Amino acid sequence: MAKFTLHDIPDIASDTLDKLGELNINSVYQLAVQNPSELAWGLSNNFVDIHSAARLIANARKILTENEILSKEFSTADDLLVRRHKISQYKTGSSNFDSFLNGGIETQSITEIAGEFGSGKSQICHTLCAAAISLLKDDSLDDSNNEFSQRLPRSIIYIDTESSFQANRVHQIAEQKNLDPEDILKRIYHCNVYSSEQLEALIDNLPKFIEQYNSKLVIVDSIISLHRAEFSGQGTLTERQQRLGKMLNRLRRYADIYNIAVVITNQVVSYADSSHPGFDYMKAAGGNIVGHGSTYRIFIKRSGKNRTAIMQDSPSHPYQRVKFTISENGIEDTSSYKTEEVNELGW
Ligand code: ADP
Ligand code: MG
Repeated sequence: MAKFTLHDIPDIASDTLDKLGELNINSVYQLAVQNPSELAWGLSNNFVDIHSAARLIANARKILTENEILSKEFSTADDLLVRRHKISQYKTGSSNFDSFLNGGIETQSITEIAGEFGSGKSQICHTLCAAAISLLKDDSLDDSNNEFSQRLPRSIIYIDTESSFQANRVHQIAEQKNLDPEDILKRIYHCNVYSSEQLEALIDNLPKFIEQYNSKLVIVDSIISLHRAEFSGQGTLTERQQRLGKMLNRLRRYADIYNIAVVITNQVVSYADSSHPGFDYMKAAGGNIVGHGSTYRIFIKRSGKNRTAIMQDSPSHPYQRVKFTISENGIEDTSSYKTEEVNELGW
């Protein structure tokens, strides 16, 4: 098990260490995920310029690279394959949905689930919480490089911006699946968030909680609702997008450095397609910033009492769709199974 502390950073001054402590940066991982300009700003009383801040971060990343937790700046493709083998996959509760994902929700990635109100995004998140238990308890899971792994049972962080989390629903799903509801509920660290500023601060401080709770799955339901409500005027769009981009950028770094899965939900906007006048179409909200910030984008549509999930953007999946349904078991397969390739509009 790798064991290193901030004292292992070459030539780190003791007043810099103190200052990092004041900024709540207490581990090599927490330093490695920082952004140079923000860190320089935080350390500015110490006259640390952006270059020195960048060097501190680079030294933290170097320690993680030497311990094979991060890839080198340039890695050969076979090294990348070794790192890919460290990816774990969380089951969704529907085996068809899992096949559609080539196994499940992956670590080292951000999986975005977009859809209309009532399409089942939060139900997917609830089911994931219950279904994740088998992986959270899997002793063969390769996280031997993680210095926190032995400390606490593995857990889930659930960031809830719409007050839609229901512990009793997770309990019900777990019971239906013959899983131990008490064990599952104890492993979910839930946090209600009420403002965009609070969400941003929480995301900034997330490494501390990921380490403290030994979390392997972070769910943000939803990533956009607070920003969308608070930055509604045209003039505020640029700022909103910058703030969203910053959060996603951080989440991406956390997914990578801690080898965790990050699931975010997203809302939709309607748009008119000039080639089909009179029809309104739905697309994921948040524009390119959210689209590019996520590794996988899954769009959920209602179709009668079933739901259709469409893989809209992925570096490794075909453009395809799958049907699932929602019941007391959470999300599950429909009786008629189908994973199909679809056209660009998702039909
Ligand atoms: P979103 O988060 O996308 O707004 P939800 O995940 O909250 O939507 O989905 C809500 C829908 O899930 C409800 O409209 C209902 O159709 C379905 N649902 C919730 N609980 C159950 C249940 N116990 N049995 C069957 N369907 C359910
Ligand atoms: Mg919801």
